[in-house]
Amino acid sequence: MSKKHFETEAIRIASSKSNQREHSAPIYLTSSFTFDSAEEARQMFAEEIPGNIYSRYANPNSTDLIEKVCAVEGTEAGLATASGMAAMFASMAALLQQGDHILASRSLFGSTHQLLTRVFPKWGISSTYGDISDIENWDKLVQPNTKMLFIETPSNPGLEIIDLEWVGKFAKAHNLILVVDNCFATPYLQQPAQWGADIVAHSATKYIDGQGRVLGGLILGKKELIDEINFFARHTGPSISPFNAWILSRSMETLAVRMDRHCKNALEVASYFEGNAELEFVKYPFLKSHPQHELAKKQMKQGGGIITLTLKGGIERAQRFIDQLQMITVTANLGDSRSIITHPASTTHSKLTEEERQRVGILPGLIRLSTGLEHHEDIIADVQQALDKSK
Ligand SMILES: *Cc1c(COP(=O)(O)O)cnc(C)c1O
Repeated sequence: MSKKHFETEAIRIASSKSNQREHSAPIYLTSSFTFDSAEEARQMFAEEIPGNIYSRYANPNSTDLIEKVCAVEGTEAGLATASGMAAMFASMAALLQQGDHILASRSLFGSTHQLLTRVFPKWGISSTYGDISDIENWDKLVQPNTKMLFIETPSNPGLEIIDLEWVGKFAKAHNLILVVDNCFATPYLQQPAQWGADIVAHSATKYIDGQGRVLGGLILGKKELIDEINFFARHTGPSISPFNAWILSRSMETLAVRMDRHCKNALEVASYFEGNAELEFVKYPFLKSHPQHELAKKQMKQGGGIITLTLKGGIERAQRFIDQLQMITVTANLGDSRSIITHPASTTHSKLTEEERQRVGILPGLIRLSTGLEHHEDIIADVQQALDKSK
């Protein structure tokens, strides 16, 4: 049958079927699977025939999730992991070895930054950061031992956009494995494989779950690379639990409608506060004022659910503002049905120096708002009253 639309594939692709004629997939809470004979066991271990052996390798629920996400992300193969960081780590650790070098965009998720600067150097794997504003000079950062290019777009929390078409060609020209952390956009808004990404990695904890319930990660890409990562994962054990895989597979069915609303709400809130006298600026990829608005429109279906508001009055003002919020939650997550606010300079990015924060656009008064699925007028009202009371 011909390829269907995103919404349909995300709902209708379902590989796990028991013999009970259930309509919705059951949860396979089993650590291992039985063999009909000694010969069948031998063949499965030898990978001569397919089949489930042990849930550290694969489980019907994780297979179900992977098939859905591969179909909508446009990738050949994949694996699911216990968290987004397990996915980032396994993608790098499985494909690199001592002496290799990683080129990465500077604006990265905090723990990915720790992997590059504190974990991999212990094993002789080094890295260099490239600034997005200086992308024309990235070829000077490629070393003879550079094996991988790792990027995040839109970036967290600066909302900088990297040109995926350009970066896909750049990676190919320099023979680098291109890994894209696609967590902020989700496969619904952007499919990096289409632009040449070899690996697309996700924290499924964010928009894919979408309700702040479970941790999960995904690694998707070319079969040859995924086979190598699968070997690494089988024997190091970052496997997702059947329950979390089941939750995430159900969540995939509603991703499109949820993202439509997240994006609509974010655009409403960003447009409402743009130009507000209490704010230095409002940043959102689908506002015309975003420096890379045209690029965002080229590679993203909509602008995503995250906006940043930079308050006048620095850290003190930002903290007073947060303490006045009545509905919006202050918590270290994003991509939830509930709107969430974070102050990166004093929390997620507090370990960076002031200069490092400046370089990735994290000003003292910057607030990250993950726009939830509440009515946009209620989100606006809460932000407005907290702005008024924190003057
Ligand atoms: C949250 C996040 C991660 C890490 O995912 P976990 O599921 O928390 O391990 C990686 N990258 C980005 C962009 C994230 O937002």
